[in-house]
Amino acid sequence: MQISPHLLLTAYVALTHTLTTAMWLIGGTWMGLSRRAAAEWMRASLANGVALLITLTDSGGRSTLQMMLACTLAVLGAASLCRGMHAFLRLPQANGAFLRLVGGMAAFDLLLCLPLGWATLGVATSCAVVVVVVLHCAWETHEAIAREFHRGTAAVSSGLLCAIGLTFALTALTAVLSAQHARALPSLEVRQVSLAFVASVLSIMIAFVQGYIVVMRLVNRLQHLSQHDSLTGLLNRRAIEACLAREAHRLQRFNEPYAVLLVDIDHFKRINDQLGHAAGDEVLRSVARTIVDQAREVDRVARYGGEEFCVLLPHTDHDGALQAAERLREAVHGLDIVWRDELISMTVSTGLACATDPHEPLDSLLRRADEALYRAKTEGRNRVVAAPRLQAA
Ligand code: GH3
Ligand code: MG
Ligand code: MG
Repeated sequence: MQISPHLLLTAYVALTHTLTTAMWLIGGTWMGLSRRAAAEWMRASLANGVALLITLTDSGGRSTLQMMLACTLAVLGAASLCRGMHAFLRLPQANGAFLRLVGGMAAFDLLLCLPLGWATLGVATSCAVVVVVVLHCAWETHEAIAREFHRGTAAVSSGLLCAIGLTFALTALTAVLSAQHARALPSLEVRQVSLAFVASVLSIMIAFVQGYIVVMRLVNRLQHLSQHDSLTGLLNRRAIEACLAREAHRLQRFNEPYAVLLVDIDHFKRINDQLGHAAGDEVLRSVARTIVDQAREVDRVARYGGEEFCVLLPHTDHDGALQAAERLREAVHGLDIVWRDELISMTVSTGLACATDPHEPLDSLLRRADEALYRAKTEGRNRVVAAPRLQAA
């Protein structure tokens, strides 16, 4: 049995589009992908696949019905692809524009061009609409993709959408030219097979980009979860320890001092006991916000334990760190939190240690800060105590 290239291409289109359709069905149902984006991309994949299969089906002289159906599905596919992109990137979409566009083109192709036999006009107009839709989508999504993922990812996505636009622009052009210069152009069958091949390759590539941004969003979310505290949104202990290690490395290489503050809320247990855990949580959030507001952009703030925070002050000497810690203590002292008509005020005690000796291990620095915090507690709370300065060896 001989397998023709035409049959192979048909099988390839059917297989790839079935797989991408199934991929979005699974992604939307079980993988936590935005249901709207998954539904739109599934519809796009299905519509494009069926459009390409219709284009490839040889019914002995291609009928206008076939062409108009394929055109309508191509417009539906392009519009769904773009709506899915908008939904995934949480960009605003004009309500009703999709229905007007797809409904209008379906009516134009099937109710006007089909009965009147205006196949060329139908093909050219539908292709032009696809071009406008995909270029508009490239324009509108580029910035959002670059912001959330990477400039390179945005360039690839927009580049592929432009390539789809170019393919359909050429299809529109050849449809118009073929009306007058049919002999100068390849046969309709060759053009349709070429279109189906290029369009299916491009749709696989765009599905790859979609899959990539879906996975990258999940990876970024996991990375964020693994480094942040869910209650306050601050860095967690693991993340600040990595920052401290980097800072220690900088001290070793460039002799740049830095400081660590361990900030502990005073008598926090009383708030929990008297007003409940929810009030305690609100206090933790408010203190976290206050510390972040007081910190410089280069400082790193973390929730270090239950009601204890760690602030890393890069490029800061002992006196600078004392000033910063005192400013922070005053800011928390001046904070009034309203909780169910109750006014909660609180104070913090801070232990400060400044790293100036490149040979001092991180554990020792943190131990010094912790001892200073302990002294701040025993000396009456609501105060900053600095660990004795260490001289570089
Ligand atoms: P001190 O001034 O000596 O620091 O006293 P304290 O009451 O602040 O310290 P203690 O260690 O006795 O109590 C800390 C409390 O913080 C106990 C724990 O139940 C509470 N806590 C820890 N994590 C959370 C949290 O996420 N939410 C709430 N609401 N409470 C928490
Ligand atoms: Mg405490
Ligand atoms: Mg504590």
